[in-house]
Amino acid sequence: MNALDSLKSVGFDLANLRDGTVVSRSPIDGAVLGYLVANDRAGYDQTVDQAVAAFQQWRRVPAPRRGELVRLFGEAVRRHKPALAELITLEVGKITSEAAGEVQEVIDICDFAVGLSRQLYGLTIASERPGHHMQERWHPLGPVGIITAFNFPMAVWSWNAALALICGNSVLWKPSEKTPMTARALAALLDDVIRTFPEAPAQLSSVLQGGREVGEWLATDARLPLVSATGSTRMGRDVAVKVAGRFGRSLLELGGNNAMIVAPTAHEDLAVRAITFAAAGTAGQRCTTARRLYIHSSRYETIVARLKRAYATLPVGDPRAAGTLVGPLIDVAAFDGMQAALEGARRAGGHVHGGERVDIAGLAGHYVRPALVELPAPCEISDRETFAPILYIFRYDRIEDAINGNNAVMQGLSSSLITRDLMESELFLSAEGSDCGIANINIGPSGAEIGGAFGGEKETGGGRESGSDAWKAYMRRQTQTVNYSGTLPLAQGVKFDVE
Ligand code: NAD
Repeated sequence: MNALDSLKSVGFDLANLRDGTVVSRSPIDGAVLGYLVANDRAGYDQTVDQAVAAFQQWRRVPAPRRGELVRLFGEAVRRHKPALAELITLEVGKITSEAAGEVQEVIDICDFAVGLSRQLYGLTIASERPGHHMQERWHPLGPVGIITAFNFPMAVWSWNAALALICGNSVLWKPSEKTPMTARALAALLDDVIRTFPEAPAQLSSVLQGGREVGEWLATDARLPLVSATGSTRMGRDVAVKVAGRFGRSLLELGGNNAMIVAPTAHEDLAVRAITFAAAGTAGQRCTTARRLYIHSSRYETIVARLKRAYATLPVGDPRAAGTLVGPLIDVAAFDGMQAALEGARRAGGHVHGGERVDIAGLAGHYVRPALVELPAPCEISDRETFAPILYIFRYDRIEDAINGNNAVMQGLSSSLITRDLMESELFLSAEGSDCGIANINIGPSGAEIGGAFGGEKETGGGRESGSDAWKAYMRRQTQTVNYSGTLPLAQGVKFDVE
């Protein structure tokens, strides 16, 4: 039996998905996986109206019961983990273990959200007026629009949806047009749970298939108090302006250009493994991928030589095959973008190792050898995010200069320092250190756990998702004052006596 067959029990069968204009194409070999129908404007409007009605019902359900729905969904994802992982591999080209890791993230955020459903704590606040008490409560917000990128086609939606649902909201998902099938399958699992959950309205969760215009509808739609958008900085700039224009809230998770610093005391084996996974893993298609590497002069030659050896033998190929570590790029545009960036780096004086096309027998996808680029200094090319496996390498002498280099780009997502020097480590983590949303010591910048708040500063958008108190973005805060005194003392000693 094919792993995907398990999803037939919830009505997902690729063989039946043959109509529509949204095409799902596998980056492994270019084969069409299936077609889905795009939402037109009228269908979109009806779906949002239904999501508003679903919210009005769901917000009345006690939060721990809402958590129970998410617990059941997490259980369903556990049961179908191999099928969901296979679909990610087919539609995005992730190697099997990374695809399974992404499904595990969905399970982890569900577990986290279930516990959180009993911990949506407010505050009590001392009142200056006698016989009064003040408190802060968190209420459900409304239908939440979720726009996602191709490279984490399940995890990012689940970070948003699991929290939004326990917070009492309905959810509308606009997946990447490159990954419509993973969205369809995951949503089918949630729909199946919703169908048998007595308090859950049918339209609690919906998927809106289509291109960027569907994302634009969400951004301008005043029925949605929150739009969470994950993708390129270009997209985020557009969404942010549109949502702000109607005084909505946006939660933005945009591009990264993450640096690693290798210090004089770095553990060499650990450094080489951490760099290689962070820079070449997922074929360089993570927002947290390591794209810039600062190596201390005293370690430069040795580390670069080891990286070149590791890169030359990295198994590139069919992501379904055991042993493959680097699968295909998502499409020809990604391949062209990578080649253009390498050409630009050469023009800037860079010395390029790797980066060429790798032909895989019988597979028409875009496979590349990850590239190392030794650059004399940062340049326009290394300052921007190219969504491909390119690692720009610089030399440094003073830790302050490496930290300045880490911070000297417009993106501010993730960062890492490989060191055994406590002073350097503390400096990197201090107010004068990394300016990113994520700062790691002795691990690479990628591979976050769901317990921490995830997101970045500057052009990465400023949003925080997943763990810690990220749930607050999905609720509205209300300050409440109750007078039980029988008189009416006014705040700040104001007198306003009437007969
Ligand atoms: P993309 O910006 O091309 O598309 C992302 C989503 O936005 C898609 O669903 C797309 O249809 C939609 N979209 C595009 N333009 C829009 C617009 N003007 N208005 C509304 N919606 C619009 O990104 P991509 O190529 O799918 O993904 C790669 C990018 O995503 C990289 O920059 C990567 O760093 C970023 N990313 C960031 C995070 C994070 O958490 N910070 C996570 C994953 C990916």
